[in-house]
Amino acid sequence: MNVTELARKLKVPTKELLEKLPELGFDIGKKAIKIDSRLIDKITKSWVDHKRKERMIADEEKVTEVRLDDQQEEKKLEKTVAIPYSIIVREFAEKLNLPVNKLMVELMKNGIMGNLNQAIDFDTATIIGEDLGYKVTKITDKEIEEKTSARQEQKLKDIIDNQKNKATRPPVVVVMGHVDHGKTKLLDAFRETNVIDTESGGITQHIGAYQAKIKDRLITFLDTPGHEAFKTMRSRGSKIADVAIIVVAADDGLQPQTIEVITLCQKENLPFIIAINKIDKDNADPERVKKELSDINLVPEDWGGKTVCMLISAKQKKNLAELLEMVLLIADMEELKSNPDALAAGTIIEAHKDRNEGPVATVLVQTGTLRVGDTIAVGTVTGKIKAMRDEFNKEVTAAPPAKPVKILGLKETPAVGDVLEAIDDPKLLKQRMKDSKRNRTTANSHDSFADQGSDDENAIPTLPIILKADVVGSQEAIIESLMKLNTAKAQVKIIKRGLGNITENDILEAQAAKAMLIGFHVKTAKSAETLAMESDVTIHSYEIIYKLLEDVAPALNKIKAQETLRVQLGELKVLAIFKSDKHSMIIGGEIIKGKVQADKAIKITRDGEFVDLGTIKELQCNKEIVTEAVEGQQCGITYQGRPVIQVDDILEVYQETTE
Ligand code: GDP
Repeated sequence: MNVTELARKLKVPTKELLEKLPELGFDIGKKAIKIDSRLIDKITKSWVDHKRKERMIADEEKVTEVRLDDQQEEKKLEKTVAIPYSIIVREFAEKLNLPVNKLMVELMKNGIMGNLNQAIDFDTATIIGEDLGYKVTKITDKEIEEKTSARQEQKLKDIIDNQKNKATRPPVVVVMGHVDHGKTKLLDAFRETNVIDTESGGITQHIGAYQAKIKDRLITFLDTPGHEAFKTMRSRGSKIADVAIIVVAADDGLQPQTIEVITLCQKENLPFIIAINKIDKDNADPERVKKELSDINLVPEDWGGKTVCMLISAKQKKNLAELLEMVLLIADMEELKSNPDALAAGTIIEAHKDRNEGPVATVLVQTGTLRVGDTIAVGTVTGKIKAMRDEFNKEVTAAPPAKPVKILGLKETPAVGDVLEAIDDPKLLKQRMKDSKRNRTTANSHDSFADQGSDDENAIPTLPIILKADVVGSQEAIIESLMKLNTAKAQVKIIKRGLGNITENDILEAQAAKAMLIGFHVKTAKSAETLAMESDVTIHSYEIIYKLLEDVAPALNKIKAQETLRVQLGELKVLAIFKSDKHSMIIGGEIIKGKVQADKAIKITRDGEFVDLGTIKELQCNKEIVTEAVEGQQCGITYQGRPVIQVDDILEVYQETTE
């Protein structure tokens, strides 16, 4: 047969075949034209085997293998970590100083198929921690209390130090909880029933926060879209909320995000009230929620504990006044005071660039009074307040502590979470302006193209995303959350981010880059809608970050490189081959490390070299079928796979999962 003919049959270029044949033991010469027909079958079989092995080795590269030796090394560690009654997998990994992957392996070994953002309870964490050589202790309520009182002491000290002109300021409240448990509904209900300015016909402007009045006292509500935005601000070091209302639907109970926000509040020493919502529903079961709270050491007050629980219905506006009174009670205990006469300082909670008005930001004033005409600085951005508006879009000239106001007059769009300061020292202002100039020449503006995510595109598949949002705050919170979805196997890549409605240009870019086009709290121009239909681009619109994440996660999953995670259980040395069939073998051997279990994957190695993969179908010890045998025991194995095992081979036994 001609070499070219054989090459065609094997679907390989002739040159490659001629180069490879000597490696496979067929020395026919690099320039051969014909091959002895008696060799054809042998070459074909070898070639198929060779290709199979090549594929297998390539597949092996996608496998994350955790060998017994590595597992044992970790066991030698003797450290202590303290955690609350539950902890998110990712945070636990951080505490253990371990790559998340390794922690996931441990969880898997214990039969827990978790994801990064899942919370695990204290008992599970203890078992896993111990397996990894860590002693896990609980951060007790007492410690949390001690921490809180340390904060109180500091606070009190500050107050005493600066006693002059201190006045009580309204508390700032954040509403958090699991998706669909009623955060938005509750914020809407507060807004509708407790508006301060009834004449204006209600709050029309979304400026990121608003104030409501109860018993002649003001409360400021942060109107952020869920706790991700709150976390973004926290990660920038800004502490803005004084009390949290954690909403739990009475028909759904504690959910992962509920646990997450509870953990967050405990970490931040932020006092919280559990609002058990939707009690109007037939299937509402507030007692179950209380039981679940008790299970995680948050015993409700009426059960003899300290956790404040209120039964409410945001829909029927039931018990909302009582809930707010409780907020005020907690605020009173916190002694929230600041000096309204001082120069103002506050935190930026939203910011965007308006086509007509230029940079617009909402600042939550935290101390002092901000006035029109004040010279201000936010980081390196400077300006002079030209106008201020409240949530009713009403012009105001002064904003005292805890008042949120939209401000005009900044030279650039500031970052959410940055601190705004009113400045009366010309020298300081000059310095800020100098910094600002330098910054402008080096930094990108906030609404320009961004290139977040991995640059290492060859290795990791990426999901391109175009993100349009209404305000910088949401945009940053979304990007931060999206980045958290990134794994070693698939990554989000924000190819463009911008503020404002979705335009034709966005559609064209999404089409060109095959990107997922996401709009958050924005509309789509009519022309863009038509274009999207024509060009088969789907516009994904959201009002809630969680919903957005819920859609991106599976899309990311789809593009993810298939990878196998293999945790080594043990090793067996082959002592005898009893039977060999086309697809199976019966062998005998001794377990030299760890354990061997039936139905597990096997990797065959010979002199340290990879040979093949297969599975253990059946395991026998002393002529009895068993599910497991351990180090030192001899056993018989019915192996399924190609009959390639030889005496003295090592069979590495693995627990395998593909994700
Ligand atoms: P969020 O995702 O936490 O902001 O939840 P939403 O406020 O959007 O509420 C989710 C759903 O629950 C909506 O359909 C609301 O109308 C409904 N909902 C919220 N509060 C109540 C309540 O007190 N009772 C009843 N029956 N439904 C409610």
